[in-house]
Amino acid sequence: MEKLTDRIKILSNGKYVLPYCNCLLIEDEINCLCDSSPTDQEMEHLKGININLIVNSHGHTDHNSRNHEFPDAGVLLHHVEHERVASGEAYLEAYGFNHYWAEDIRPLYLNAVKYNARPADGELKDGQVISTGEVEFQVVHLPGHSGGHCGFFFPREGFIFTADINPAIKPFYAMVDSDVDDFIRSIEKIKQLKPDMLIAGHGKAINRGDLNSMLAAFSDEFYRRDEEILKKLREGKCTVKDIAEDAITFDGKFPQPKSIYYLHECVMIWKHLQHLERTGEVVCQGDTYTVR
Ligand SMILES: [Zn+2]
Repeated sequence: MEKLTDRIKILSNGKYVLPYCNCLLIEDEINCLCDSSPTDQEMEHLKGININLIVNSHGHTDHNSRNHEFPDAGVLLHHVEHERVASGEAYLEAYGFNHYWAEDIRPLYLNAVKYNARPADGELKDGQVISTGEVEFQVVHLPGHSGGHCGFFFPREGFIFTADINPAIKPFYAMVDSDVDDFIRSIEKIKQLKPDMLIAGHGKAINRGDLNSMLAAFSDEFYRRDEEILKKLREGKCTVKDIAEDAITFDGKFPQPKSIYYLHECVMIWKHLQHLERTGEVVCQGDTYTVR
């Protein structure tokens, strides 16, 4: 745990271990968690604290897997994410299981990621201001990683909690409603807020210093992947599944178990091809893509 202010603490995960994330604990008139997947060790810090409110950045289990452990807390998240936290089938659909083959892993997946259905109690909206008493923060819709992904901006304290926009880790956008253009715009939106500090959901929580350069390097990864995909198309590959074999977003080597990362790769390649269609660089006919 790291103390940010008298009222705000980071329950930090330290390393990128799933299904956990760095979470914020606000101890105030209303006790609030921003994301709710601290490790067992960090959960110790919540003993004796009655959590009244949980705001989830989005509906992935590594950000909300413990919602069901706080039955008295109100849970808020963006409406795009509501269905997937209420239904395992909707969660699998959102991850592309119905679009690309992953039947071997499908029966195991929800347990592996500690999925527990817990419907939301209300919505988060872009620009909404939430007050817990002394502390006030603003909801910032930052889609791209998923359609309803949000960050939380604390203007008085000068920081933003960006959940799955982690400049120290490469971008990930493997949902059916992920979007490369939205993701790039969301990174720009963070820059416009000019935070002094960025609290990420995974890896090192506190990011300070030249955040603009850090975020620019993070954005550049999308363009690097575009170029790799265009190269594969020029070499004769023409479908999502063919291009996905080369693990471009995983630097050429799939982590284990391969079938789940291959599924993620398929969705991310598909998202790039949609983006390249919009820029006019690629043409799609059926499931075949060619460079214009
Ligand atoms: Zn996520």
